[in-house]
Amino acid sequence: MLPRSGDRAGEWYTARMPEVRPSPETHPDRYIQITIPVGMLQCNCTIIGDPVTREALVIDPGDEINRILELLGRHHLKVKAIVSTHAHIDHVGGLSKLHQYTGAPVMMHRDDVPLYQGMDIQAAFLGIARPDVGEVDQLLTDGDVLQWGSLAAQVMHTPGHSPGSVSLYLPPDAGKICKAPPQLYAGDTLFAGSIGRTDLWGGSMDQILDSLKSKLMQLPDDTIVHPGHGIRTTIGEERQSNPFLKR
Ligand SMILES: [Zn+2]
Ligand SMILES: [Zn+2]
Repeated sequence: MLPRSGDRAGEWYTARMPEVRPSPETHPDRYIQITIPVGMLQCNCTIIGDPVTREALVIDPGDEINRILELLGRHHLKVKAIVSTHAHIDHVGGLSKLHQYTGAPVMMHRDDVPLYQGMDIQAAFLGIARPDVGEVDQLLTDGDVLQWGSLAAQVMHTPGHSPGSVSLYLPPDAGKICKAPPQLYAGDTLFAGSIGRTDLWGGSMDQILDSLKSKLMQLPDDTIVHPGHGIRTTIGEERQSNPFLKR
């Protein structure tokens, strides 16, 4: 029997969150990558920048936009796109504000746009203030390739935690100027040792298991996974030990 993912409001996304949290980190010899947990629910916001052109992608700016802007400024980065892995409030709370400051397009999968526009319901569920909701400038589709600077990422539609959840995959040659291991930004689809809860709006256990098995588990074992909350892991590690992925 599968263990249950979290089902209480306080356990917003998963039953078991690792205690160690990522800290800001850069890989200037490859590409710039900075992950910081933001907001009350400590959503991992990631900045991926090209060290030459200084163009950057920002994933899940859920909150603390001033802190994100300060990091962008410190690294002399210009935001080319703002990507939402899914439209849960802790991942999208800062989308509109970051767009206003940078002018960069906001991107998400069309199946999560209703969730984004229904922010009142999510805010009431958590008992917190409703963040600004802006326009979605570009709808993401499975197979899209996002390019900025010399970097490229593939969009994978991985529904289950929410209908429009996406993961971003940077293959080993994503940074053409320099080699790096493959990287996956998994949103709340896959965590270290757990998976996202599926009892929220439009969630589906069948779908998330299918997304994991038919898409994420097809990636190479050495793929570094950056989940939407908690510590990093690898596809190989999760294939071996994640209780949701055992038959
Ligand atoms: Zn979520
Ligand atoms: Zn989350």
